[in-house]
Amino acid sequence: MNKIPPGLPKELFDDTRLEPAKIFDNLYCITSKSVAAWALVKDDSIVLLDAMWDDNDALFIIECLEKLGLNPENIKYIFITHGHGDHYGGAKYLKEKYNAKILLSDIDNHFMLENNDGPNGPRSPKCDVDIIITDEEKINLCGMDIHIINTPGHTPGCLSFIFECTNGDEKYNVGLWGGTAFPRDMKSLLDYENSIDVFFKKAKEMNLSALLTGHLFADDGYHKLDVVRSTGENLFLTGFEGVEEYFTTLKTKLFDAIEKAKTK
Ligand SMILES: [Zn+2]
Repeated sequence: MNKIPPGLPKELFDDTRLEPAKIFDNLYCITSKSVAAWALVKDDSIVLLDAMWDDNDALFIIECLEKLGLNPENIKYIFITHGHGDHYGGAKYLKEKYNAKILLSDIDNHFMLENNDGPNGPRSPKCDVDIIITDEEKINLCGMDIHIINTPGHTPGCLSFIFECTNGDEKYNVGLWGGTAFPRDMKSLLDYENSIDVFFKKAKEMNLSALLTGHLFADDGYHKLDVVRSTGENLFLTGFEGVEEYFTTLKTKLFDAIEKAKTK
């Protein structure tokens, strides 16, 4: 493993692969210790939410889909939360192999193309985006509504999503929080704070029952994945209280980061 850059969690650079799992009837988690791709499924169609770091991870995604009984040829769309290599890096390979269409925000498409170091380094091939998201909207992909919420801060064009998941007859609104780590500069930190408020308001309106992120290490996800895979008990499904708790904790940590940034 390369030297870990200061300020970044060591898990981000740990490519240990974890066993994939079905989280809801229509949602699957494919993940290394570093980063996850979520597969949202309707009938035979697959919408991937994020694509991990690189070509190797793309091959891992393919292997996991097959293991889960899903056909990777049915990947129709790859919706990328933000323009960091650990989220878009596998998309180019999957697009070329399966003719999947890639979605990303306009701002982070530029961000991806213009940044070439740190999380945008050579490890992660950049991709041609097919559908550029410029505004908040509800988009329907393969018969599934995905609510798009602009949540800048982690990156300038970071997106978060809300979509419906099912377990038998039960239906739940589930959120994917696009950017977990805090930015360094004050403007981005304040953007991040505002994004929490905007997303949380929407989460409340839609009575979110679960909140997911791209990095399982950010919210005890390794354990949750283990439990759902081995027992079927879904600890990702926290109810709105759990979502509220996540953002309350996140905001407390954010205020600390803002105070620290003030003294710099
Ligand atoms: Zn990121």
